[in-house]
Amino acid sequence: MNKFGVEITAPDISRWKEGNTGVDYVWQFDSGKPGPNVMVQALTHGNEICGAIIMDWFLAQGYKPEVGVLTLSFGNLAAFGRWDPDNPEISRYTDEDMNRVWADDYLNSDKSTYEVVRARQLLPFVEQADFLLDIHSMREPCAALMVCGVTDKGADKAVAMSKRLGLPEYLMYDTGHPAGLRMIERPQFADPKNPKTAILIECGQHWEKSAVDVARETMLRFLVEMGTIHEATVKSFLNPSLHTSDFKVIEVTTAIVAQGATFTFAEPYKGLEVIEKKGTVIAHNDGNPVLTPYDNTVLIMPAVAKQWKVGTTMVRLGRLISD
Ligand SMILES: [Zn+2]
Repeated sequence: MNKFGVEITAPDISRWKEGNTGVDYVWQFDSGKPGPNVMVQALTHGNEICGAIIMDWFLAQGYKPEVGVLTLSFGNLAAFGRWDPDNPEISRYTDEDMNRVWADDYLNSDKSTYEVVRARQLLPFVEQADFLLDIHSMREPCAALMVCGVTDKGADKAVAMSKRLGLPEYLMYDTGHPAGLRMIERPQFADPKNPKTAILIECGQHWEKSAVDVARETMLRFLVEMGTIHEATVKSFLNPSLHTSDFKVIEVTTAIVAQGATFTFAEPYKGLEVIEKKGTVIAHNDGNPVLTPYDNTVLIMPAVAKQWKVGTTMVRLGRLISD
């Protein structure tokens, strides 16, 4: 481990550049049999290398779909190309966050950042997908969690799908990002009446070994559950110790966005803390106290050490819900 806690090694994925779709780093395999169109993406954020490790491994195994179509994509190659374990933050994105560019207005605009150009290349595959898994990880050490989309916008079907996978323990109904639309929030996934479903796994801290284990288990369980690969084919790689039947479902109600020159947390939070009392000060946002809105507020992904600017989501607040 180095001084930034980087325990894992970024793979050389250059052998996957050519793809077989006409788009660099996008591979698609058609079983020729009826079945779902299933897509898995790694490296939406270039410094979240656990997904790249597992995608590289999966492609090298040579697995092909038993039914339907399987698309495997690497997202932000320009950012990943800057990966440096001694400066691991610089490879998150190049021009802008690639997981905020997925609104039609934005994709159809005259913007020409690397990320929006790449998103336009990936969009046809995303639009074909019946089921989509986007593999991410987090800045702070934190238990793995599944982002299941936005409350009232298709999140119920994503929660139901996550439970079928058997992991992770924490499933999240989200509010979305005020700064822009994520890939999993494309309209077909956000429509409760449309069976197309997208989930986003946060595998744990970016550079922990355990994030790789969560990425592998989630991807394999997703593909098995969709019928894309047979369980027997990957059984020796499955890790039932990561499974649970006791899910904790969190409904995010509020995203706290940096509003000015200063943002300071009251404690060095790591995420998934439960703050007992309503009205507890958890941060100061441009001088104004940020209060917990209800008893037992759950803090999600506090950006304690992250570089940020006005408009960055600094922490999300949620409550545990039973179902
Ligand atoms: Zn990410």
